[in-house]
Amino acid sequence: MLRDAVRSLAEAKIAPYAAAVDEEARFPQEALDALTANDLHAVHVPEEYGGGGADALATVIVIEEVARVCASSSLIPAVNKLGSLPVILSGSEELKKRYMTPLAKGDGMFSYCLSEPDAGSDAAGMKTKAVRDGDFWVLNGVKRWITNAGVSEYYTVMAVTDPSKRSKGISAFVVEKSDEGVSFGAPEKKLGIKGSPTREVYLDNVRIPADRMIGAEGTGFATAMKTLDHTRITIAAQALGIAQGALDYAKGYVKERKQFGKPIADFQGIQFMLADMAMKIEAARQLTYAAAAKSQRGDSDLTFQGAAAKCFASDVAMEVTTDAVQLLGGYGYTRDYPVERMMRDAKITQIYEGTNQVQRVVMARNLP
Ligand SMILES: Cc1cc2nc3c(=O)[nH]c(=O)nc-3n(C[C@H](O)[C@H](O)[C@H](O)COP(=O)(O)OP(=O)(O)OC[C@H]3O[C@@H](n4cnc5c(N)ncnc54)[C@H](O)[C@@H]3O)c2cc1C
Repeated sequence: MLRDAVRSLAEAKIAPYAAAVDEEARFPQEALDALTANDLHAVHVPEEYGGGGADALATVIVIEEVARVCASSSLIPAVNKLGSLPVILSGSEELKKRYMTPLAKGDGMFSYCLSEPDAGSDAAGMKTKAVRDGDFWVLNGVKRWITNAGVSEYYTVMAVTDPSKRSKGISAFVVEKSDEGVSFGAPEKKLGIKGSPTREVYLDNVRIPADRMIGAEGTGFATAMKTLDHTRITIAAQALGIAQGALDYAKGYVKERKQFGKPIADFQGIQFMLADMAMKIEAARQLTYAAAAKSQRGDSDLTFQGAAAKCFASDVAMEVTTDAVQLLGGYGYTRDYPVERMMRDAKITQIYEGTNQVQRVVMARNLP
């Protein structure tokens, strides 16, 4: 029922704008409005804070179905989970109430600020600092590649509080867009997910009350990594949705397009490509849903499974969307058809929340 409901909404209210959002590289406001009106913008927020209380699998299905028509729009529910999960996992009850309530209501989105210009895969090499000043912390630094920066009201920011301890000297904070000293860089000009704003976040002597720290001092990096164990599954869902969207489009096209006097769908070479695409998508789906169940239960092998789902599903998304372009021939290579957008959008799923090389490092360290 959830899948049917999200699919109908996505096809009616999000799909019609997907091409324009990509072409104009603009925020998908129509998608945010539609998702918020239907309480699908941050489904993971627990009911006690006014949220939908969706479990990990339900959240995956929402993201998958939105990504099937518009990958940029699927980053609304996905990044709301990424940004807010540190608070849900490690924040005080007071912090959860204060920030999960407006997120659930649709009064403010959440972003996640880990990466920096010189600290990507090696996130613990970050330079952003937080220095204690009485009942306040003062933050200085630059966060890079922040999804939905400028649009979100709230930002989970990881910063160094004790430089002598590397990852154990990093703490997490909630920073608000309206805090003095917060500003944003120009939107990055990207290959895909052009409707999702990616900007730098500048923190210039941002003075925030000490109770905005998420969890204890020095636990920020552990919280950031624990968060990714759960949210990599949402990127797998995004990849899965993009791949399914490309297969669905190609499946329809090959029945219509005629060459050599018959629909190209009649050629076995085409049928085998479609069979392989569907097979890979189904394998990615099973891995992703199983990982979501592990996320919900907090199973001890979640780190491996989350990395495996993200890595596998994103590689599948890249292969399937590339094949979808191939199935449309020259037409697939133009912006008159959606599969070239899907191919460009698929690429990012192999890069963010840890590149697929990093996923392999994570898997190798946590072999089942
Ligand atoms: C559109 C977009 C949105 C993003 N959104 C966010 C966000 O909201 N919040 C956030 O915090 N970050 C975000 N990121 C950052 C993203 O997570 C990083 O780009 C990613 O982790 C890689 O870091 P890097 O770009 O610095 O690449 P690098 O770390 O410099 O990597 C370069 C290459 O080296 C490889 N490499 C690095 N280390 C190893 C190793 N040990 N073994 C093998 N290969 C290795 C990488 O796989 C990659 O191929 C976003 C990025 C993009 C492009």
